Amino acid sequence: MSGTLIVGASQSGIQMAASLREAGDEEPITLVGAEPHPPYQRPPLSKAFLAGKADLASLAFRTEAFYAEQKIDLVLGEQVVRLAPGLATTHSGRSLPFDRLALTVGARPRRLGVPGADLDGVHYLRDLDDALRLRGRLGAARHVVVVGGGFIGLEAAAVARSAGKSVTVVEAADRLIPRSVAPVVSEFYRRAHQRRGSDVRLGVGVTALTGEHGQVRAVELSDGTRVPADLVLAGVGIVPRTELAEQLGLHCAGGIVVDEFARTSEPDVVAAGDCTVAPHPRTRDGLVRLESVQNAIGQAKVAAATLLGRREPYSAVPWFWSDQYDLKLQIAGLSGGHDEHVLRGDPEAEKFSVLYYRGGSLIAVDAVNSTADYLTVRKVLDRGGEISPEQARDNEVPLKRLVSPPA
Ligand SMILES: Cc1cc2nc3c(=O)[nH]c(=O)nc-3n(C[C@H](O)[C@H](O)[C@H](O)COP(=O)(O)OP(=O)(O)OC[C@H]3O[C@@H](n4cnc5c(N)ncnc54)[C@H](O)[C@@H]3O)c2cc1C
Repeated sequence: MSGTLIVGASQSGIQMAASLREAGDEEPITLVGAEPHPPYQRPPLSKAFLAGKADLASLAFRTEAFYAEQKIDLVLGEQVVRLAPGLATTHSGRSLPFDRLALTVGARPRRLGVPGADLDGVHYLRDLDDALRLRGRLGAARHVVVVGGGFIGLEAAAVARSAGKSVTVVEAADRLIPRSVAPVVSEFYRRAHQRRGSDVRLGVGVTALTGEHGQVRAVELSDGTRVPADLVLAGVGIVPRTELAEQLGLHCAGGIVVDEFARTSEPDVVAAGDCTVAPHPRTRDGLVRLESVQNAIGQAKVAAATLLGRREPYSAVPWFWSDQYDLKLQIAGLSGGHDEHVLRGDPEAEKFSVLYYRGGSLIAVDAVNSTADYLTVRKVLDRGGEISPEQARDNEVPLKRLVSPPA
């Protein structure tokens, strides 16, 4: 028996291997990862690790002993470049046979496609090597320009500003974090970053980066302005890695398409995490890509069950967090498609939550420094129940007292 080959040794791959063992799978498991480092968590890379407040050791998912004890053959620094039925080949020519295959290959950062994008001082932030390079350069930088006002860009902007750098955030859309939160939350973040001294430019694209002696010196914007920069961080989204899936002829559409059992279009092959798109977890309507730790873990568990012949549909309520300065954002549910929202608390006091409704039903919450509201909504979405929009507007009453039981 060649057992299971999991390609991609990160959040999703580690979970899948661990779940297979927890479920009693005794077949060989090979976990192969392109990066040379022992598998590590990514969220701190744009937060505590970038700020120098967390060290390398604290990022590790598991001890070395774990892999040995669990008989998980961890192959690091080997990128799988070819897949054929039953056999994977790495860039160094190593052959990895398998009976069962899982793809947890994640995503790569989208690159800036403008003149000057290859200048020294232009960075991306997806993996540990990126974070080490960025952290190494941040100390000496004076003018930091963050291209892209999504979570990673804003988290890094907060770290840079807290370190006393001049920071400019440039976002092509007319609001921050446009893909994930509603306008009221975007506006809050714009003001919060500005209050702390960052310059936030909305509705402008980057047309070029200019430099001297190969080093970036300025970012040119579509409105004709020029922002000085000696360090540029581009956080402009990710591109799911689908090359291997395509080699196998698997259906891909902005990610490897999987069903609620984490099965690809070839039912013997599973995929999980950032490389996938899957049916909307609540409505089953349309395909969504969820770039989150929770999704990587949850889908991996389901994929492990599928590999063992069990059918456990993935239907968890999505949740996500982001830490910027002293602002803890917690999101539960997906707010896309909402037709009504209720604001509780006071954005000016930097403590509030926004509840989202569709057709009168609660579908999501964005909570800033409001963990109680976040937890209550998450529980309602998980277990059923409702909180009416009319009642939710009464800020004096704790949300959990307003929950009506499931119909
Ligand atoms: C800076 C940063 C901050 C984040 N912050 C948060 C947060 O606050 N909250 C949250 O929920 N999520 C956060 N995320 C997202 C979260 O980290 C991802 O959703 C999660 O890592 C996805 O796990 P994954 O295993 O699917 O993919 P990845 O973590 O991308 O791992 C894929 C692995 O596969 C390897 N690989 C790819 N191709 C091959 C190949 N051909 N052969 C061998 N190996 C290969 C890659 O090298 C990589 O190690 C953050 C992500 C980043 C980058």
